[in-house]
Amino acid sequence: TPPVPAPSGRVLLAAPRGYCAGVERAVAAVERALEKYGPPVYVRKQIVHNTHVIRTLERKGAVFVEETDDVPEGGTVLFSAHGVAPEVHEQAAARRLTAIDATCPLVTKVHREALRFAEEGYDILLIGHEGHEEVIGTMGEAPDRVQLVDGPDAVDGVCVRDERRVVWLSQTTLSVDETMETVERLRERFPALVSPPSDDICYATQNRQLAVRQLAADCELVIVVGSRNSSNSARLAEVALQAGAAASYLVDSAQEAREEWLRGVSTVGVTSGASVPDVLVDELLVWLAGRGYADVGIVTATEERQRFALPRELARS
Ligand code: SF4
Repeated sequence: TPPVPAPSGRVLLAAPRGYCAGVERAVAAVERALEKYGPPVYVRKQIVHNTHVIRTLERKGAVFVEETDDVPEGGTVLFSAHGVAPEVHEQAAARRLTAIDATCPLVTKVHREALRFAEEGYDILLIGHEGHEEVIGTMGEAPDRVQLVDGPDAVDGVCVRDERRVVWLSQTTLSVDETMETVERLRERFPALVSPPSDDICYATQNRQLAVRQLAADCELVIVVGSRNSSNSARLAEVALQAGAAASYLVDSAQEAREEWLRGVSTVGVTSGASVPDVLVDELLVWLAGRGYADVGIVTATEERQRFALPRELARS
């Protein structure tokens, strides 16, 4: 019997996708620190939320730890792109560590806003996900002033000192639509609610959501490459569904993709989170091509040109 012909399916690849400027800088900072100080270089928490990136840096001599206490006295430690509370800097100083801060400048901007509004006596309603490192870091700037609001359903439980002095801020990697829904619900309760001077949801998060939204309606299936603990990657899978994809899945790599997802599917959308190196998307494209999805079209939502300089301590002289 002749072989069953492979389906001639199509792939729509989102652009932009993958690495953002903050992740590029954080990964480059670890590599540069390894060059400058030699291994081991310690990194507090996952430098970015991607399993492949962590394994690759470990092979080069980075040692990932949970807390500064796990770093030997006098050692070199990098703080992750998600940011840290001021007390973490203090702990590092107390242990005489050389601390290099790889916090994304866009997260640092939210920290500064939190600090400024707290000094002005505002209650700060931080829209974000409970337990996420970025949220823990931002709340640490003014623990008595910042309250977490984890989505629209949490709005009823918010309690403030003075309804005339309330501001909202947000985690940088949320779904734009869900955040605006939360803001509207907050504004119904607190009509004087002040908005941040500029969007906290970062350009990379917004652009990746925009791109996946543009292709999702034409796809029966969207596959997002990203690790489970990556907030912006998880949001991409949700946005794809909301924008009309029949199904969406988050996979750490092509190894997690399943043949049965492709049943009856003619167009597959593909994108990746801001912490995902391109090689992982390339592997997924090879996997898809092997199953008859070899025709790849790119859906470009916008061009990105953002770049961030390395942390000061690591700048080449
Ligand atoms: Fe910075 Fe946005 Fe990238 Fe997070 S996703 S590291 S905030 S640019």
